[in-house]
Amino acid sequence: MSISLVNETPGQKPSLDDLLALLQEKEAEIDSLKTKNEILDIIISKLPGNVYWKSLDGTILGANDNLASIFGFESPSDIVGKLTEEFVGEQINELLSEIDHRCIDLDQEINTEEFGYNIHKEPAIYLSRKMPLRTKAGKVIGVVGVSLDITDRKKMEEELKIAKEKSEIASLAKSEFLANMSHDVKTPLSGIIGISELLTHRLANENLELAKTLLASGKQLYNFIENCLELAKIESTQLFVNETFNLANTVYEIKELFLPAVNSKNLLLNIYIDPLLPKNVIGSQAGLYRTLLNLVGNAVKFTEKGSISIYLNFLKKISDQDIMIQCIVEDTGIGIASENQKIIFDRFTRLIPSYKGVHDGSGIGLYIVKTFVEKMNGEIHLESELDQGSKFTVNLPMQIPSRELPNISNDRVLTQTPPSTNLNDQHLIRVLLVEDNPIAQQIEKTLLSSLNCAVEVADSGEKALALFEPNKYDLVLMDIGLPEIQGDAAAILIREKEKDAEKPCTIIALTAHLTDNMQKDLKASGINEVYCKPLLHDKAKQMLLFLRSNI
Ligand code: ADP
Repeated sequence: MSISLVNETPGQKPSLDDLLALLQEKEAEIDSLKTKNEILDIIISKLPGNVYWKSLDGTILGANDNLASIFGFESPSDIVGKLTEEFVGEQINELLSEIDHRCIDLDQEINTEEFGYNIHKEPAIYLSRKMPLRTKAGKVIGVVGVSLDITDRKKMEEELKIAKEKSEIASLAKSEFLANMSHDVKTPLSGIIGISELLTHRLANENLELAKTLLASGKQLYNFIENCLELAKIESTQLFVNETFNLANTVYEIKELFLPAVNSKNLLLNIYIDPLLPKNVIGSQAGLYRTLLNLVGNAVKFTEKGSISIYLNFLKKISDQDIMIQCIVEDTGIGIASENQKIIFDRFTRLIPSYKGVHDGSGIGLYIVKTFVEKMNGEIHLESELDQGSKFTVNLPMQIPSRELPNISNDRVLTQTPPSTNLNDQHLIRVLLVEDNPIAQQIEKTLLSSLNCAVEVADSGEKALALFEPNKYDLVLMDIGLPEIQGDAAAILIREKEKDAEKPCTIIALTAHLTDNMQKDLKASGINEVYCKPLLHDKAKQMLLFLRSNI
């Protein structure tokens, strides 16, 4: 240390007073440094977690109170000069020093998890940050570490992971149960709906009315089951499948469904379809159908006089392929007070409870509608006034298919059923119907025969393959859930059989339970289109018209 005297002038000796003053000044400086060091020591000793610094050979140079007490000492000064291996077992010491050496050798900071012990001598996991310890000149002389006990956090993470795995297994089991139950319930119900629809084409007068009511009730029950299943599915995030479909037909299906109820209440049901809309769009038909189903169902339920109007508008073009459509369902019913307009979209909210017996319902319809609309990237608004009526507006993005399917025309204002195309005037369509369920078989065969098809039936994949020959059928209508050879596997084998054929046949799959992935997989098996069961008259007609345009 060099000492320089403040008032010293060259050639002049300092006086005794000067030297004394200097001495006092330096003593004060040393005192202040000592105080600073002591304060630093106190701060370090009280730092949370374990703080320590070691020399290159692993000798502890300093630590905080926590580390000292973990090693069984009262003060950090008691462990200075000792080696870590004296406190932890050989194995742990090896792991710790390996990390210390890595930090020193690489001359860089390391963040890692380490094993050690806590204050109760129990094994613990630490999150450690190690940095090289340097002199002022930058020379690495050891390592500084800060370690935090994260044992509880780790335990919690592990518990959460196990809980998540368990809930995933449970949710998978729930989805499987739903898929099975959906199939098991919908199959017989499809039979009831299919047969009652066939009857509506064969009966007259009073019996026709009975058949129509049976059909409407069957459809309503089907929709109720769908609603319950969908509510469960929303949680397991299964989405609708996008497909090419006819917008107007979707609205007419809804109209047909509600016509008996509308007539019995002496209401008017108006349908307006914007002529600017394309006939076919790509989007979720099921999503649009179920949205309209719930909104029109409510409109009919909550309207006692006046009318219900369904508008399908072309809202705007987004790009060459993308458009925004708008569906409006308007009624002149009881209306909804403004303070209730938000809550009715919540799950299980009903403004008039069903036990009062005025209206039935479970309070999930609008929750499902809102969730579906959001999942289809659309939006829903409500305008309503008590006793004046309600207007639900839904805007939905859709795509325009590159090749439009032939279909019915969109007339501007229609309150009639769509104009029908006479399939009977055209030549027979040869169909191989592959269906193992005898009721579905009977319904589909009768339906297709009435639409001028020559139908051969196979009740298994094997029989279908035995019957199939290239150029023998225009259409293979294939159920997917078949015993032994499933529908998709049978489709692959059919495509194999006709690989040299002039014109491959059309294969349309029928299923009661359709998911997005399933649609992709089925198409990869050589299936051209996938339809949801039950196959009803209008859908079958649309399918055959499409087929004829391709024959
Ligand atoms: P619900 O099965 O009870 O019809 P929703 O979720 O479809 O369940 O509807 C929730 C509530 O919103 C209904 O119970 C009714 O109080 C009210 N609501 C829905 N639509 C209408 C409407 N068009 N007119 C009047 N009130 C309606």
